[in-house]
Amino acid sequence: MNINNLKTPCYIFDEGKLIRNLEILSGVERATGAKILLAQKAFSMYAFYPLIGKYISGTTASSLNEARLGHEEMPNSETHIYAPAYSDSDFDEIVEICGHVVFNSFSQWERHKDKCAGIECGIRINPEYSEIETDMYNPCFPGSRMGAKISDFPEKLPEGISGLHFHTMCEQNSDVLWRTVLEVDKKFGRILSLPQIKWINFGGGHHITRGDYDIKTLIKSIEYMRGKYGLTVYLEPGEAVALDAGCLVTEVMDIIKNGIDIAIVDASAACHMPDVLEMPYRPPLFGSGEPNEKKHTYRLGGPTCLAGDVIGDYSFDRPLKPGDRLVFGDMAIYTTVKNNTFNGINLPTIYIKRQNGEIELYKQFGYEDFKRRI
Ligand SMILES: *Cc1c(COP(=O)(O)O)cnc(C)c1O
Repeated sequence: MNINNLKTPCYIFDEGKLIRNLEILSGVERATGAKILLAQKAFSMYAFYPLIGKYISGTTASSLNEARLGHEEMPNSETHIYAPAYSDSDFDEIVEICGHVVFNSFSQWERHKDKCAGIECGIRINPEYSEIETDMYNPCFPGSRMGAKISDFPEKLPEGISGLHFHTMCEQNSDVLWRTVLEVDKKFGRILSLPQIKWINFGGGHHITRGDYDIKTLIKSIEYMRGKYGLTVYLEPGEAVALDAGCLVTEVMDIIKNGIDIAIVDASAACHMPDVLEMPYRPPLFGSGEPNEKKHTYRLGGPTCLAGDVIGDYSFDRPLKPGDRLVFGDMAIYTTVKNNTFNGINLPTIYIKRQNGEIELYKQFGYEDFKRRI
């Protein structure tokens, strides 16, 4: 592909890589009878929803808007939703489009249950077991608002609740899932064995499409819950669906010096890769090395006036100059969904790389997109 002709900054979503991921996920569905849902929170590129819908069972949403998107763009697939709380007005619409609704608490269930005829209702549980070390991403940290603990469960489970949902993982392998499933069984076995419980949702955070992911243990975990309690198992990965299925291309705009060589690029950490600052993490950059690993080291910074809009320090074989293009990897997930126009910076153009290698312009943004939000 000739990236020099593309308008920067831009994302390129890679259909071939997406299909590779989807084949792995649909293989898990076929091997186990489990149902896999796209967590749209990570990846809402609805241009691909018809394709995704051919491989997996549907979408899950964290809000009415996401639920609508899944319902409209992947019709004839399942639509699930979970949110910490639902407003009364949103809920009226949610029950029109979602087949499964997961509540964060019994009080939320009580508030909305009369509208739930014909809908599969579940409770998100807090199994008080998570191997995530960063509190920001750990729904089981002390004082967490996510889910009901076993001590919050009433003696008699209300009729109308037919499933449990947990989401306690982040970018993890299936050994963590296996230990979590055993822990959920130990604490919630009394609930899981009730005849009214028909399904369990293992949430997201499963890095199923990563090279070193152990699919056998995933299958063992699914079959454990299916075999012991006869449950339908759902998984709702976000990252795993579009892992490594996109990149962000940026152009060097200027080179300056302040103790270290600094390259100003037209992509912003704050606007276009917010997880770089929030997680924080260092995005992979093709053809680069760690600082001082290669001959020429630069600090890469964005075009906003936020002093901390720094992507990171990288080294290169050759000196950078204005007009050079740099390509960051793994930029499909948690990027477009989190983009903003802080400083009036444009949203990146979106291209799609088709399986045959051709690159199509999908969407461009401009002044009106900035103005309309305010
Ligand atoms: C974030 C989230 C997901 C998706 O998580 P990934 O880490 O992207 O796989 C799934 N379910 C719930 C409830 C979530 O909050």
